[in-house]
Amino acid sequence: MAKLAILEFPDERLRTKAKAVQSVDDEVRKLVDDMLETMYDAQGIGLAATQVDVHRRVVVMDVSDDNSQPLVLINPSYTPIGDEKEPLSEGCLSIPEHYAEVPRYLKVELKALDRNGEPYTLEADGLLAHCIQHEYDHLEGVLFVDYLSSLKRDRIRKKMEKRHKQMQGA
Ligand SMILES: [Zn+2]
Repeated sequence: MAKLAILEFPDERLRTKAKAVQSVDDEVRKLVDDMLETMYDAQGIGLAATQVDVHRRVVVMDVSDDNSQPLVLINPSYTPIGDEKEPLSEGCLSIPEHYAEVPRYLKVELKALDRNGEPYTLEADGLLAHCIQHEYDHLEGVLFVDYLSSLKRDRIRKKMEKRHKQMQGA
């Protein structure tokens, strides 16, 4: 397994719409394993392939406290169950150190393929439902800052640009 580099906002590559996976083969499984390692190393609860500059519809997640429940979502889609939304404070490995409340559907039904290419369905609520919607957005080139006012988004963009300058200078 190998750790992958995570793209950071406002990198334009994060705006790429990912393409569907045609067959879940060893190459896709290696990507999944590398993404899980990268996510755990960064102490995240979700990572989309878009964030590691691979523009295919692959997501990994683990919302457990002890990294014991890795979830693999290949070609995921979801439908809201009910129309109730709740705001939850959200972060993103591509926008480190910034958090904001984003309203998401309370409950969703997820459909995806697992690491063996087997289709599955999952009813999710709470943090998991929130995470599914956040990661799905990545595959569409959407970031949580897009839900904020342009004023707030610009403020985060400036801070991130400053961070990247400092990193280059270090
Ligand atoms: Zn994210």
